[in-house]
Amino acid sequence: MNKGSLAANLLSQPADILDLILDIVPQGIVMVDSNYRTLAFNRPMFDIFCFPAGTLYVGKDFRDVIRDWAQHTDQDAAMLERAIRELDIREPFSFEFPQDVLGEMRWCLLTHTPLPNGGFVRTFTDITEHKRLEQELDHLSRTDSLTGVMTRRAFDQRLAEEMKRAWRFDHPLALLMMDLDHFKRVNDTLGHYAGDAALRDFVGVCRRECRIYDLMGRLGGEEFALLLPDSGIAAAVVVAERLREAVAEHSVDPGAPEQKFHVTVSIGAAQLHALDSASKFIQRADQALYAAKAAGRNCVRCEADAAHHPSPA
Ligand code: GH3
Ligand code: MG
Ligand code: MG
Repeated sequence: MNKGSLAANLLSQPADILDLILDIVPQGIVMVDSNYRTLAFNRPMFDIFCFPAGTLYVGKDFRDVIRDWAQHTDQDAAMLERAIRELDIREPFSFEFPQDVLGEMRWCLLTHTPLPNGGFVRTFTDITEHKRLEQELDHLSRTDSLTGVMTRRAFDQRLAEEMKRAWRFDHPLALLMMDLDHFKRVNDTLGHYAGDAALRDFVGVCRRECRIYDLMGRLGGEEFALLLPDSGIAAAVVVAERLREAVAEHSVDPGAPEQKFHVTVSIGAAQLHALDSASKFIQRADQALYAAKAAGRNCVRCEADAAHHPSPA
C-alpha cells in the first residue's frame, strides 16, 4: 500500500502483490495501531476523501488525519469530536455518512474492525450511486407515475402521521374519498388514452382547488383520497362540493380539441373521531362515497348521510 506506482519488476515479493491487490479494490482501506499511528492505507483512500497531497502518510496520528479531513470537508465540531471518539470503540461497527467533497455531495459507508492487539482496520466505500438509486426507488414507490400524487402506500403513512398530529393538537381532520363516475364507459367509448388524460386532469383540477397542505393519494384505478388537515366535516363538505363542481365544469382534452369530454366525480366525506383506526376512518368516508353513488353520482355525501344508507356489501 501507499508505494506509488508499482512496476512489474517489483512484484517479486508477496508484500508487493498484496499492495497491488489493495490498490485495485474499490474501497479505501486504512490500518491504525493502538497508539493511533497510521500503519498502512491504499490508494482509493485518496479518491474517496480527496485528501490534499501530504495529509496522509504512514506514521501519521490518525486523529490528525481526521482533523485534516474535518477541516477540508467543512465538518462541524460535534462531527469531528464524534469521529475521534469512535476510534476507541472495541466492537465492529458500520455506518453511512454524507460528505461534501469539493462541492459534490457524496455518500460513504464506513466499516470499523478492531484488531486483537489494539488498533483497527477501517474500510470506506463510495455508495453515492447506490444511495441515488435507493432514493429514486423510494420516490417511485411513493409517487403515482400517471398523476404524480401519492401512491396508496405513501398515503397510508401520511394518514397515520396526520391522525396522530390531529389528536396531539386537538385539531379536526377530514377525509374525502373520490371516485370518478362511469369511468369504465370513458375507457370503453373514448379509449384508455382518453381515460388517462381524464385522470391527470382530475388531479390537476383538485390541486388547483385545494390548499397546498392538503394531501392527495391514488388509492386505486380511478379512486382518490384527499386528506384535509385542520378541517372538520362542514368545511370538508364545502371543499368537496367545490371540487365536484370544478371537475364537472372542466373539459378534458385528450390531445384533439374536437374530442374534448367531461367527467364527473362522486365524493364521500368523513371526519376523524376519537379512537378511530385508519381503516375505520377510511371505511366511513367509503360508506359516504357509496351513498353518493347510490344517490345518482356527481354529488357529495358525508358520513351522517351514509348512516341512513345500507353499507356496500
Ligand atoms: P362507478 O360510477 O360506479 O364508479 O363506475 P365506474 O365505471 O367508474 O367503476 P368501475 O370500477 O366499474 O370501473 C373503473 C374503471 O377504471 C375500470 C378501469 O378500466 C378504469 N381504470 C382504472 N385504472 C385506470 C387507469 O390507470 N387508466 C385508465 N384509463 N383507466 C383506468
Ligand atoms: Mg368509478
Ligand atoms: Mg372505483
